[in-house]
Amino acid sequence: MLLEASRLLRFLIALLALSSTLSAQKVADLAISGGTVLTMNAAGDIVEDGYVAIARDRIIAIGPRTQLEKEFRPLRTIQAAGQLVMPGLINTHTHAPMSLLRGIADDLPLKEWLEKYIFPAEAKNVTADFVYWGTLLGDLEMIQSGVTTFADMYYFEDQVARATRQAGLRAVLGETWLDFPAPDNKSFDAMVSYTAQFLKQYQNDSLITPAVAPHAPFTVSPAHLMAAKELADQFHSPILIHVAETKTEDEDIKARYHASPVQHLKNIGFLEDSVVAAHCVWVDDQDIATLKAFKVGCAHNPSSNMMLASGVAPVMKMIQAGLDVGLGTDGPAGSNNDFNLFEEIDLASKLQKISLMDPKALPARQSVEMATVGGARVLNMEKEIGSLEAGKKADVIVINLNHPNEIPLYDYYAGLAYSIKGSDVDTSIIDGRIVMRHRRVLTLNEDQIFQKAREFRAKILASLKTNN
Ligand SMILES: [Zn+2]
Repeated sequence: MLLEASRLLRFLIALLALSSTLSAQKVADLAISGGTVLTMNAAGDIVEDGYVAIARDRIIAIGPRTQLEKEFRPLRTIQAAGQLVMPGLINTHTHAPMSLLRGIADDLPLKEWLEKYIFPAEAKNVTADFVYWGTLLGDLEMIQSGVTTFADMYYFEDQVARATRQAGLRAVLGETWLDFPAPDNKSFDAMVSYTAQFLKQYQNDSLITPAVAPHAPFTVSPAHLMAAKELADQFHSPILIHVAETKTEDEDIKARYHASPVQHLKNIGFLEDSVVAAHCVWVDDQDIATLKAFKVGCAHNPSSNMMLASGVAPVMKMIQAGLDVGLGTDGPAGSNNDFNLFEEIDLASKLQKISLMDPKALPARQSVEMATVGGARVLNMEKEIGSLEAGKKADVIVINLNHPNEIPLYDYYAGLAYSIKGSDVDTSIIDGRIVMRHRRVLTLNEDQIFQKAREFRAKILASLKTNN
């Protein structure tokens, strides 16, 4: 009897000790344990055998595993030993629904490509349904290649938002304005009221930041550019626009307005820090100084600039001037043709090296920064995303380092820039939610999306054979 009582007492004491340890531990929803954590923070911290604790949508702690695993009691743990844990990539310029037009017309100059093929194909085929399914296909590819945030310019942008929410991706989505009838809105008034409604609908959304996207200074008049800015300002929304992409645009704007595209935008009062300027290829020192003065961020798209032979953006000069520069894939139809930001990291560095004939130009670390923290700055989201830091949104990717192209790995930045591929990304967490695990996207039905995309191909091909 006495023996029984002392056993019971010992058991109770052990139970008490255990419960006090447990109550001292902090609860986390998710932990990523044992990986090499490349934080991309200002100090450039890399934590070997690290630990990332996540509660709801945010990172709550980062540090050595041996220390933090004692402090936290996570509901779920992702074992990441031997893997690389880093912030999700930020694609600062694309047109996601154009995935359905991938490969429809290639190897052409921008103007001919747009006017002869893309605008007519879009006029015949772009519907709300096209945009929804095209976006799902694009989202699927972006998630599988490590993108956790993207900036988009297209039509029926509410459908881009609907698909992207479903995918669980973070995005800045800009409704495109043109001076001629667009697939969704046939008049200027319709465009303004549609966009106002879209901006209203997605105010304060956790994943979607709605934006206004006047196409470019050569396709949108000064009056309409300013109307776009006014509407964006009213809703504190970003403005997405193509700027100084080609020599033809540069010459055209100079002939019409006696100023470069950047100076023209400045002269009409369009520039401000919420503007994201895609391309900025044809910019001189004065233009770079102007962009810097107005805190305009640039989205650099090396694949697109090379494929359309648009030119080489003076990225090194922009960075030296203190401009925020991010990376973008641009659209997948005739100007890339995929959404793989790892390729842009690689090409951004190599394009600067060959054009400046300097192998030291745009080193790996700088191009990786452009794809992460740099992109966050361009989108004015650096307080929330772009690096792994306690308090920031939990947008994290885990890269499997068990492929021949990743072994051995001496330098993580060089690995990311020159040998690691988008297809090496194993797991993606966005806003604290596991969106992909072991390369399976958990939010989307891959087979259904592929099937739909093939059906669209048949429809689009048939539409191009008719003349009306
Ligand atoms: Zn574009």
